[in-house]
Amino acid sequence: MKISSRLSDVPPSGIREFFELVLNMDDVLSLGVGEPDFVTPWRIREAGIYSLETGYTSYTSNKGLLELRELIARELHDRYSISYDPDEEILITTGVSEGFDLAVRSVVDPGDEVVVFEPSYVSYDPCVKFSGGETRRIELDIDSGFVPSPDVIRENITEDTALMVINNPNNPTGSCLDFETAREISMISKEYDVPLLCDEIYSKLVYNGELHSPLDFDGMKDNCILLDGFSKSHAMTGWRIGYAAGPKEVISAMNKIHQYTMLCAPIVSQKAAVEAIENCENEVTEMVKEYNRRRRLVYGRFNRMGLRCSEPDGAFYVFPSIKKTGLSSEEFSKQLLEEEKVAVVPGTAFGSAGEGHIRCSYANSKEVLKEALDRIERFVSDKI
Ligand code: PLP
Repeated sequence: MKISSRLSDVPPSGIREFFELVLNMDDVLSLGVGEPDFVTPWRIREAGIYSLETGYTSYTSNKGLLELRELIARELHDRYSISYDPDEEILITTGVSEGFDLAVRSVVDPGDEVVVFEPSYVSYDPCVKFSGGETRRIELDIDSGFVPSPDVIRENITEDTALMVINNPNNPTGSCLDFETAREISMISKEYDVPLLCDEIYSKLVYNGELHSPLDFDGMKDNCILLDGFSKSHAMTGWRIGYAAGPKEVISAMNKIHQYTMLCAPIVSQKAAVEAIENCENEVTEMVKEYNRRRRLVYGRFNRMGLRCSEPDGAFYVFPSIKKTGLSSEEFSKQLLEEEKVAVVPGTAFGSAGEGHIRCSYANSKEVLKEALDRIERFVSDKI
């Protein structure tokens, strides 16, 4: 059968490709997977079970359960002092993944440019391609802590720029925007009238004070599509549930696609998400404390073994430099897997700016992390 030419230059996910190798091996310690090692808190699972027992098995409104949209509006008001209308300015999606695709397809026309900072989450560039747009890459490096420079952003805005993607806290680097950069980005967005697509899926996983978001600044509600969800904060990756909040014309455009392609997010997951927002603050706090302990362990060990690592302020990843070993990211990751049976993700899976780095997830028990770090240290000891 003929395959659409739109897919011809979409490469396979660098993460998936690498993990095909891991599947065929025994006893591998994996720091590769980007999902919590916790199961969903019991209260949330119970709410899901109860909703099935009581017969909640139907479609919901395309926009999602009003009860859930109202709770999200309240949470966002507490977070940003912004009032989103639950009826017109919030859409429940099947994860941030769907929200991202809907948002890009809603505002990008063929030929438009989308600014993406690299290294970047693996879905961004393919989704831009699906919309017919073009990714305008801005490369970030470890010397700047993987935080973009406002001057460089300004230089990369053209008359074709339709959108700028901000992933904060960041996958794969763990970096977060500082107050000043978040403010500058909000100013640039207003000055050049470039909407922001803020993927804040790791918003609750921050370790050094508060998250600084462009949404903290005046007037940004009208210029920003916010995406968040439950996969990471509540260990709910398999439930496929997230949301988008933004100006009503954008949410309505996103729903135009969603109502035909998805109809609605699963009702059982929506019911579970209600419980997650209403009653699970303590569970999230406990998971964040545990991630923070692991973060300190992993970040400290990489620097001590000679692999430079900027301090990750959020998410659950570190992105150490392996340049000193003289190996490329791919070579390092393949040899480490073969020789020490530790799986990490080559930095190039996140774009060419990731060359010279590996991504390690600390969503793993301390025992696994310690053993994996010992093996990595042994692997690099004769190379640096
Ligand atoms: N955005 C980022 C930055 C991610 O790291 C991930 C998952 O790893 C997603 C979105 C996908 O989230 P969801 O499970 O809500 O689709």
